[in-house]
Amino acid sequence: MAGTNELEFVLVTGATGFIGAHVVDTLLGQGLRVRGTTRTLAKGDEMIKARPQYAGKLDFVQIDDFENPGGLVEAVEGVDGIIHTASPFTYDTTNNEKELIIPAINGVRAILEAASASPSVKRVVITSSFASVLDANRKAPPYFTYTGADWNPLSYEEAADPATSAVIAYRGSKKFAELEAWNFVEKKKPAFSLVTLCPPMTFGPVVHPVPSVDKLNESNAMLWKVAKGVNPLPVARVPFWIDVRDLAVAHVESLLKAEVGGKRYTPASPERFSYAMAAEIISEGFPELKDGTRLENQTIDVSHGLDGETAAKELGYEYHSFKDTVRDLIKTFEGFAISSADQWQSPKRFEFKPKPFGDYDIDVKIIACGVCGSDVHTATGGWGNKIWPVVPGHEIIGHAVKVGPKVTTVKVGDRVGVGAQIFACLECDACKEDNETYCKKLLDTYASIYPDGTVAHGGYSSHIRAHEHFTFAIPDGLQTELAAPMLCAGLTAYSPLVRNGVGPGKKVGIVGIGGIGHYGILFAKALGATTYAISRSRAKEADARKMGADGFLATKEENWSSEHEMTFDFILCTASSDDGFDLAPYLSLLKTHGRFIAVGLPEGAGWKVRPQSLIANGCLIGSSHLGSRKETLEMLKIAAEQNIKSWVETIPVGEEGCGTALKRVHNGDVKYRFTLVDYEKQFQ
Ligand SMILES: [Zn+2]
Ligand SMILES: [Zn+2]
Repeated sequence: MAGTNELEFVLVTGATGFIGAHVVDTLLGQGLRVRGTTRTLAKGDEMIKARPQYAGKLDFVQIDDFENPGGLVEAVEGVDGIIHTASPFTYDTTNNEKELIIPAINGVRAILEAASASPSVKRVVITSSFASVLDANRKAPPYFTYTGADWNPLSYEEAADPATSAVIAYRGSKKFAELEAWNFVEKKKPAFSLVTLCPPMTFGPVVHPVPSVDKLNESNAMLWKVAKGVNPLPVARVPFWIDVRDLAVAHVESLLKAEVGGKRYTPASPERFSYAMAAEIISEGFPELKDGTRLENQTIDVSHGLDGETAAKELGYEYHSFKDTVRDLIKTFEGFAISSADQWQSPKRFEFKPKPFGDYDIDVKIIACGVCGSDVHTATGGWGNKIWPVVPGHEIIGHAVKVGPKVTTVKVGDRVGVGAQIFACLECDACKEDNETYCKKLLDTYASIYPDGTVAHGGYSSHIRAHEHFTFAIPDGLQTELAAPMLCAGLTAYSPLVRNGVGPGKKVGIVGIGGIGHYGILFAKALGATTYAISRSRAKEADARKMGADGFLATKEENWSSEHEMTFDFILCTASSDDGFDLAPYLSLLKTHGRFIAVGLPEGAGWKVRPQSLIANGCLIGSSHLGSRKETLEMLKIAAEQNIKSWVETIPVGEEGCGTALKRVHNGDVKYRFTLVDYEKQFQ
């Protein structure tokens, strides 16, 4: 019976685990609705929040204990397929039979009983293990190949013997749990059919919630130890392995392919592995880890094989290479994320996966990142952010550690910057006219979603992956922590200045002396204009004059504008507060058809403008968003040539540092920009 099981709604047990989370993503990617079981609903919530593109297609139920599965019958209700990945796994037991073997068997029985009680379930797929296949006493020569027909000859008594090791007991738990499933199906003849998968060591990128790398699943944790220079290298018990993404596809295809009902597969890569191979891949692929990685010779057992071909052929997928798997695992990015608006002051360590690496992409290992007002408006939900968790930061500087084959402007090792825009179509009229910041397909550097569904995260993190167009070489003369804030705040000021003809002979006003405003003064001056700072009080007058301001107006003083009426060519307003803001006196400063450009974005309703306010001098008001790649490169060049010095306070990146920076920016307690530094102390 070839064809497809018509499934819509799938239950995944252990859905917040390493394999389970990949299975969930594969199902969602195929358009199915998914219910996950988890021991802690908070982890389920984290997974839902990390997948805003699948809102409404993923829900979780809490099952603490499959031996005592209150709620399992309800969980199964309405689903038409089940993937059971949950299983006790620990070598840290005091009673193997009670802690490993019996819970595994009871878990399988409970899920199958619940499935039989629900007539809509067509297929159940169970994650078993190669442990349930191998025979520890079978020795080559002659060469032999394990297949799905082989069973571990271990007896229940041997596995449950208190004197046996936890490794043997674990193998027993997998074997007898799987056997329970096949016996159940044979005896009870349920309406669903069963498929079991017996994978070996499983490696690959992490998509489930983990607080830190030392909380990884056992096999990945081994690879991390290798990356961190463990001495001596671990020795693999068996040379067989599979990439978790391939295993997830194998699960989903086992569920969907009608004709594979009743089969038992051993999905495994045809390539053998050793930890010495992993060490070599890591030291070749990650220059920053090279010195710490220990290289050894390890012999790989080639005396026997494992049949992964049958699964690949019948289920229809291909295997990742060990090299890609190791690289993609080590490549998982880490950052400091805000989990929700009410937690905006408490960023937490967070792992995330970048978008797939494209031909024009560059991976940047971050060394510094400015803290922008936008970070606060996003983290607090003030601008209505809906994407959580979010890693803020869009004034990023780092070193290119990987460049795509079509990249021409950056080489590995170059110091580069990434600003507040991460994507545009690069094909539309706006894009072709150096107005990519106005492209309809524009994506912000963080709190946005790529077309493939990947959530983009910002620079409070170890790395960022960016298209070459949005990655800028930083001129040698510029100091990293001073250059970082130019990439958003600097550009936001610079672009409207040059677009509105600011230069020698022009009189320019900069309203608001904060992060953007201080760049307004620095760049207006650098462009040769007569520059006035306009602020509420005179508290920042001395600073503004040091930045180069020729004049200073304090708006709380009576008749502050009258002396300068109709003398300004251009005003850049960087203030983002809108309460009590009276536009009229500002506009009165402008010459005939002078321009007032506002770049501060208030959280509230903004101002009311009547044509009558514009009529006295025929002035124009408008706004401006960031700037183009062309302007970014020009700005950096001018900054280097004229030795423009940003006013920056540095703060060490970390949960504490990011939280402090956000709070202080929120309170306006910064002169005039923070740059997060000391990245090497937080990230490997
Ligand atoms: Zn910004
Ligand atoms: Zn475009």
